[in-house]
Amino acid sequence: MKKVSFPHMGHAGIAFKSLLEDLGNEVIMPPVPTKKTLDLGVKYAPEFACLPYKIVLGTYLELIEMGAEVLLAFDSYGPCRFGHYSHLQFLTLKNLGHDVEVICFGYPKREPIEFIRKLKKVSKHKSTIKCLYEFYKAFKKGWEKLKALDYMEKLSHKIRPRELKRGTTTKVYKQAQQWLDEAKTYSQIAEAKEAGIKAFNDISIDPEREVLKVGLTGEIYVLLEPASNLEIEETLGHMGVEVERSMFLTGWTQDNLGSGTQDHASAIEAAKPYLPYKIGGHGRETIGHVVNYAKRKFDGVIQIAPFTCTPEIVARTILNKVSKEHDIPVLTFFFDEQTAKAGITTRLEAFIDLLRRKRLEKNQVAAAI
Ligand code: SF4
Repeated sequence: MKKVSFPHMGHAGIAFKSLLEDLGNEVIMPPVPTKKTLDLGVKYAPEFACLPYKIVLGTYLELIEMGAEVLLAFDSYGPCRFGHYSHLQFLTLKNLGHDVEVICFGYPKREPIEFIRKLKKVSKHKSTIKCLYEFYKAFKKGWEKLKALDYMEKLSHKIRPRELKRGTTTKVYKQAQQWLDEAKTYSQIAEAKEAGIKAFNDISIDPEREVLKVGLTGEIYVLLEPASNLEIEETLGHMGVEVERSMFLTGWTQDNLGSGTQDHASAIEAAKPYLPYKIGGHGRETIGHVVNYAKRKFDGVIQIAPFTCTPEIVARTILNKVSKEHDIPVLTFFFDEQTAKAGITTRLEAFIDLLRRKRLEKNQVAAAI
């Protein structure tokens, strides 16, 4: 049995692990990216590659050190650079002398035969029918876990800004992740989810606390991987801000592999007057989400993206107009290896201060009418 692994992306690894183990693999869980991971990636990546490229390359190098023999990657098509990335990373690994097998999965709808061929490499079942049947079963269970994990994360966004003891929500969220990781059957997943919900409900909160509502949107990797965005959601929660993130892996999977979500369709529609075309990455969706957050009367929106991410740079230029026309403050962070948490926190504090004053003014006007 070969040792298989994949890049770290938030809690998604727990679901990937479940899926790959059910297919008969020994899984090495990718470590949470650290400064050492990024330094490794930066050392061997082209200077202007996006931050996710560098973090993922650093992760692969760490995984090889941990004994991984097969690395999984995910491919894309279209205008952004993502389509080249896994191929370049594997060339780099090869040039560094690492004899590791790399399997890069594209969209199954677009290349079904190729998808099955690659799937067989990570399945103990070599007949196509058996392999697909086992994949279906493993995917269904992994999906159940992923839905529960996303649900836990949404709960953490709601509860953290209201918690009485700072840090309790983060602890409970980590515990819930562990319970879901340990769950092996459907009934255990359901029990772990229930226990997680109960643990969140048991957190002492101040229900009267006035919290701001801020939308978080931007590029998928920095949205889903807290290590890449320097734990921005946690920082905002501790500042008394309820975050609503525009993307979760369950939603992304439905949008890209299934029939699509209403949320995504509505964002594309809302972006139309500003950007009617797909420009790669999630640039168009970012614009649509800002419009929708404004319509839902959010206090503000934060766009996050890797430095040099072209789709988000295009979106950023358009967001000036969206912000003015929809009267919603928008703050943008571009992350790279130079970005420090202290700098982000200072800018967030100033932004939150502005949002509080704006809300106060609105309340005063409403009271005077
Ligand atoms: S979406 Fe942005 S960060 Fe992601 S690969 Fe494309 S250019 Fe890079």
